[in-house]
Amino acid sequence: MVTINENYLKLKAGYLFPEIARRVAAFADANPDANIIKLGIGDVTEPLPAACRDAMTQAVAEMGDRATFKGYGPEQGYGWLREKIAQHDFQRRNCDISADEIFISDGSKCDCGNILDIFGHDNTIAVTDPVYPVYVDTNVMAGHTGPANDTGKYDGLVYLPISADNAFTAEIPSQKVDLIYLCFPNNPTGAVATKAHLQAWVDYAREHGSLILFDAAYEAFITDPDIPHSIYEIPGARDCAIEFRSFSKNAGFTGTRCAFTVVPQSLTAKASDGTDVSLHRLWNRRQSTKFNGVSYIVQRGAEAVYSEAGQAQTQTLVSFYLENARIILDQLSAAGITAYGGVNAPYVWVKTPHNLSSWDFFDKLLNICHVVGTPGSGFGAAGEGYFRISAFNSRENVEVAMARITDKFTV
Ligand SMILES: *Cc1c(COP(=O)(O)O)cnc(C)c1O
Repeated sequence: MVTINENYLKLKAGYLFPEIARRVAAFADANPDANIIKLGIGDVTEPLPAACRDAMTQAVAEMGDRATFKGYGPEQGYGWLREKIAQHDFQRRNCDISADEIFISDGSKCDCGNILDIFGHDNTIAVTDPVYPVYVDTNVMAGHTGPANDTGKYDGLVYLPISADNAFTAEIPSQKVDLIYLCFPNNPTGAVATKAHLQAWVDYAREHGSLILFDAAYEAFITDPDIPHSIYEIPGARDCAIEFRSFSKNAGFTGTRCAFTVVPQSLTAKASDGTDVSLHRLWNRRQSTKFNGVSYIVQRGAEAVYSEAGQAQTQTLVSFYLENARIILDQLSAAGITAYGGVNAPYVWVKTPHNLSSWDFFDKLLNICHVVGTPGSGFGAAGEGYFRISAFNSRENVEVAMARITDKFTV
């Protein structure tokens, strides 16, 4: 008899997006002429930069010639890509990170989940509320939680509420936690963390022997020069943080797949006999065993992000989405709706007017404006009363959707 991983049965079976799809489909059925605009998507819309496409085309040609053909590459990624990343994303910002501390992968989402392979099952785990659901669900699958309660919170996880009251940055906990997930710029709130806030986390982690899992997938969207792009800009972070980065949002690689994870050589955690074990060594072992690297073609495409043309083209992409976010913020403000984020991130986090619930606001926006967003409560209990609008869309869709909100939306 085959048995299953029972932890999967604890999962709140992907409730959010199916429910959105159900309500949109019902509205579309009843209103076949409505032009529904979807601003709920966390996926990019604009095509790949030419520099990346050219590099990949060239790489395809190399694969067609016996003299330049490549088979399996290094599980950690090609040295030339790791070097470019180390120099451009870290050393240029005075972060002490070397190429051999960078592991190329096919996605940050995968790495965020896979990283749990190298940790014990008795760690106390902290997440913010609201949160990117992947951090929570992967811990549920790994058996690190009890069941969920009515509000969707799992027993055994420490939830750190974030709201307008704390500028969407969690209070440093008074209790000891072992693993802490931080995401800045944040999905879903669009908030960023100051150096002082990140320093407080690093100080906490070093004092308690904790580890920060820092998701910087939206780093490229930071416009404020004082906001850190990497946790390693913070003194001491090499001893207490792993960082996740991705080419998905800056270079439009959501369908192409390339990301990387930084695991400093200096990072250790405890074995049960009290010895310190290198996390770099464990992650390297994990990747070498369970992963066979990212395709040569895709890594060449990612490398091109760091060329002069690639830098200009990715900056153009990021600026395009940020301009969408600016339009969204402006128009919501004109409609008298309070909103956060959208300046250093492609997400605008709306405070629902008149204390509408997240789903009531969703229904009103859909019914009155034919615009779809994402209810904040879907990202956690503390997201209730908020609503996420994504800037990943065409300019036209954003302009039309926002004009409808300023023209028609009334509570
Ligand atoms: C989009 C996103 C990522 C990137 O995931 P990939 O698997 O690299 O595409 C990581 N973290 C968050 C919070 C995201 O929204």
